[in-house]
This record gives sequence, C-alpha cells and structure tokens, in this order.
Amino acid sequence: MHSKVVSNSGPAAHTAAVYLARAELKPVMYEGMLANGIAAGGQLTTTTDVENYPGFPNGISGQELMEAMREQSARFGTEIITETVSKVDLSERPFKYWLEYSEDAAPHTADTLIIATGASARRLNLPGEEKYWQSGISACAVCDGAVPIFRNKPLAVIGGGDSAAEEAIFLTKYGSKVTVLVRKDKLRASNIMAKRLTAHPKVEILYNTVATEAKGDGRLLQNLTIKNVVTGEISELPANGLFYAVGHEPATSLFKNQIATDEDGYIKTTPGTSYTSVKGVFAAGDVQDKRYRQAITSAGSGCIAALEAERLLAEEEEDASEPIIEAKKSEVNGAAPQYKTNPMI
Ligand code: FAD
Ligand code: NAP
Repeated sequence: MHSKVVSNSGPAAHTAAVYLARAELKPVMYEGMLANGIAAGGQLTTTTDVENYPGFPNGISGQELMEAMREQSARFGTEIITETVSKVDLSERPFKYWLEYSEDAAPHTADTLIIATGASARRLNLPGEEKYWQSGISACAVCDGAVPIFRNKPLAVIGGGDSAAEEAIFLTKYGSKVTVLVRKDKLRASNIMAKRLTAHPKVEILYNTVATEAKGDGRLLQNLTIKNVVTGEISELPANGLFYAVGHEPATSLFKNQIATDEDGYIKTTPGTSYTSVKGVFAAGDVQDKRYRQAITSAGSGCIAALEAERLLAEEEEDASEPIIEAKKSEVNGAAPQYKTNPMI
C-alpha cells in the first residue's frame, strides 16, 4: 500500500509531488495517458510560451516547463506512472482505485489522495476553430493576450459571464478594439464586472450574437462570420484574436457522488486549504478553482495539499489526533467538513 498517491500531472500535482517526495513520503503519480483529452503534463502542454510563471524572465514553452517539473518530481523519488485512473472508491480508507484497461484487476490502495485532475476550457467547435486554434483563437486571454499578433488589432471575446468581462477588459490593453459576442440579450456577469465592461471605451458588446465561422489567411485568424440570432442577419467581423470565455469543465466525473462538488462540478475545498469533504482526500489546482485557473495558483495549491496531507499522516502516525468531525457519506453534497489538521479551526 502507498502511504500517498498524487494523482495526475499538471503544475498542482508536480508541486505536491516535490514536497511529498522531499518529505520522504514516496508519492506515486498517475500522470494519465491522454486523460480527459489532455497529454501528461496538463494544460500547459497545449500552449506555446508561458510568460507569467516566475523564474523565467524570457518566458518558457509550456511543454518545456512541464518537462522540467516532471524531472524535478522524479529527481526526488516520485514514482511516475503513465496511466489513467479510471475508477475510485473513496468510501473508506485506505481508498481504492483502478487503472484504465485493468479495472478487473485487484484495486490499488492509498491512505491519502491528492486530486489534481485539472479542467478544460469549453470549446465551440466552430468551422475554422481547429485550423486557427492557438493561431488567433485561444481560451485564455491572460495567457495569450499579450502576444504580438494581437497588438493594436481588433479582437473578439465570446461569452457573457465574469470571465468574458474580465478577459475583454484585459484585452483592451493590447487590441485596438474588443468586441464581445453575447448569445442572449443580457450579460450573465456580476453587476460590477458588467458595469466595467459596458463602460469601457474600447469595448463593444453585440447581444443576441453568435459566431458561426472563424476565417483567416490559412496561417492566422482574420475575421469571424457572426449571426444575430433574433434578426437572422449574418455579417463579417474583423478579428485577429478570438477568445472563448464560455466556461470550463473540471475533470471530476471520476469522483461523482463520492465527494462534495459545487453546482458546476468543481471539488469543494475549505477556503484557503485543500481539504475536501472526504478525510484524507485533498484537491489542488484547477479542479477546485474556477476563479484564477493559472499555473502558479495551481502550483501554490499543490504545495498546500502536500503540506496538509503530510501533516495529516504525521498526526495519524502519532495517533494524536482523531478527526473532530468525521466525513460522512451524507456530507458528499454538503460543505467540506473541518478536521483537527485544518488550520481554519
Ligand atoms: P492541469 O494542467 O489541467 O493537468 C491535469 C492533468 O491531470 C492532465 O494532464 C490530465 O490529463 C490529468 N488527468 C485528468 N484526469 C486524470 C485521471 N483520471 N488519471 C490520470 N491523469 C488525469 N496558466 C498560466 O499561469 N500561464 C499561462 O501562460 C497559461 N497558458 C495557458 C494556455 C492554454 C492554452 C491553457 C488551456 C491554459 C493555460 N494556462 C496558463 C492555465 C494553466 O495551464 C492551468 O491553470 C494549469 O495547468 C492547471 O494546472 P493543474 O495542475 O490544476 O491541472
Ligand atoms: P459562466 O458564468 O458559466 O459564463 C459562461 C458564459 O458563456 C455565459 O454568458 C454563457 O451564456 C456563455 N456561453 C456558454 N456556452 C456558450 C455557447 N455555446 N455559445 C455562446 N456563449 C456561451 O462562466 P465564467 O464566466 O467562466 O465564470 C465561472 C465562475 O467564475 C462564475 O461563478 C464567475 O462568477 C466566476 N468568475 C468571477 C470573476 C470575477 O469575479 N472577477 C472572474 C471570472 C470568473 P449564457 O449566459 O447565455 O448561458
């Protein structure tokens, strides 16, 4: 039995692994084999340059950054297994889990789990999207907005929520104009964000409007075909950049009905910690964070998860601390319970 399993392979999991391995807890990492449609290494393997991760003044490619993180995890003794966890049983400790293609075999077991399965940005599958993905089309303005192809060019954002508002306002620093396409006749964004967006002189909002095609010169995006869903009118919108802000999907189907999640499927954690509703299960990274979704915030929460897991195991080893409130099955859809190890109490 492993005393610790770190699941998955993005910045959250690798940070947790480095801390756990240095604490000699022999972490095991299942980095996934195209799990959730994403390569081992996580979302950053799908991008070009990462310019906002500290320590790399000239930026670093996402692939290179994740290879370096993997090397660092391995260097301190993390066992990295290139397989996908396909089933878990969190009803009692040690937790049981199974791997893809070998679900008939006896389960693996672990005292603690760190869930860091990440999330993926929703895409719209527009005609032309595949061709211009990362060549004008992106799902992360904060990540990609500053690249030269967007400087002083018309840009577009799809979505009417807080992310769309935030991304559009962020993009006004770079683009000549930002057009926000909202499929309904109103924004979903909070009042304060909606006010900021509507008041911005470089932003135009087109309500009742959807994009139907992304077009370019074969290399880079140049414009969008858009449609007013009320009048049926079709027109062309110049756009050298298109940013999706239509929500994310956390990779939590594996844990459905076994751990508390919010209405969008994100794992609930006690604020400021990685504690979930199940004692011994910690969550880090995008799988529990729909607000920030950055490599550095994921890495930070991976560190927190490792330190909290380490503390729990140490307390249990000393037999010095029984949980104040046991996680019960009935709490699966409720708030995350508190433990003695929880610094919040
Ligand atoms: P992820 O990176 O999502 O990794 C999770 C991993 O777990 C994946 O490899 C997945 O395959 C694996 N997995 C899932 N389920 C299983 C399973 N059942 N078994 C085994 N493995 C599993 N952030 C920045 O800070 N700067 C940037 O410049 C930046 N650029 C980005 C560009 C793009 C195109 C995208 C999509 C995101 C970008 N981000 C950027 C956001 C950043 O990538 C994420 O916030 C960060 O990767 C989240 O890390 P994570 O550890 O939570 O999980
Ligand atoms: P969201 O609130 O779910 O909004 C998604 C938006 O995308 C909605 O306007 C939705 O339209 C639109 N959309 C969905 N599918 C679409 C499609 N196929 N075509 C066109 N439009 C589509 O997601 P989010 O904005 O990412 O926010 C997620 C959570 O994080 C929210 O709780 C939000 O408050 C929070 N957040 C807060 C801040 C902040 O406070 N500054 C910043 C970012 C995120 P409809 O409205 O028509 O459904």
